[in-house]
Amino acid sequence: MLSARNLEVVYDDVVLALRGVSLQVPDGRIVALLGSNGAGKTTLLRALTGLLDLHDGEVTKGSVTLDDDDLRRTPPEKIVSRGVRQVLEGRRVFVELSIEDNLKVGAHTARAKMAANLDRVYGLFPVLADRRTLTAGYLSGGEQQMLAMGRAMMSDPRFLLLDEPSLGLAPLMVEAIRDVVVEINAQGTGVLLVEQNATMALSIAHHGYVMETGRVVLDKPAAELLADDDVREFYLGLH
Ligand code: ATP
Repeated sequence: MLSARNLEVVYDDVVLALRGVSLQVPDGRIVALLGSNGAGKTTLLRALTGLLDLHDGEVTKGSVTLDDDDLRRTPPEKIVSRGVRQVLEGRRVFVELSIEDNLKVGAHTARAKMAANLDRVYGLFPVLADRRTLTAGYLSGGEQQMLAMGRAMMSDPRFLLLDEPSLGLAPLMVEAIRDVVVEINAQGTGVLLVEQNATMALSIAHHGYVMETGRVVLDKPAAELLADDDVREFYLGLH
């Protein structure tokens, strides 16, 4: 289980971005993390993967744990090697490298298993397999998102953290991303899915959290969040 408990995060010693956030990602589940811009979702992901330092952020209270181990002083690369892997918002693939080389870069923590993981990733993303020698810069936005996810899957993570994977994508591509998240989860990886597309996220998640200005305001089974008219209207912007 990956968890945050009563987490407080401050940027630049002044901006209070998380105000006591608790969240749990159990093994093998999909957890949706929803909320408007600036609510603190990305900050929470950074805290879980040790990336706050890079952004002048700091955990000032609370804990981040993987099973019973405190991750607050664990360097990001060690967190990755322990199986917690984040796909950053905005894709960030190496546009001059081939698809296959992009995937191999992602395998740095598991070289011995490279061939098996490549096969598995190509199974998850047939569109990448068909074009493995193509330069990544030629891929569409949705395909680059898939490549970024595939790269993360090259280390066979126990938990995959996704920051708005459907952002800016056409409906068919959003569906493809949703299907692949379901498949990744079916193969055993726990997923924390940050999404603006609440309907998509809740349709596949087991549990959902809604954040507002640095706090968790709702923490419920995804089906309950989706079924509640008030929640839909006031927190999710759905009608
Ligand atoms: P978005 O969907 O826009 O990414 P979010 O829910 O992920 O929103 P965060 O990006 O975590 O929200 O931002 C939470 C708060 O922290 C916001 O008030 C934001 O302005 C602030 N913040 C985020 N990153 C930094 C930073 N590097 N330095 C200072 N403040 C920051």
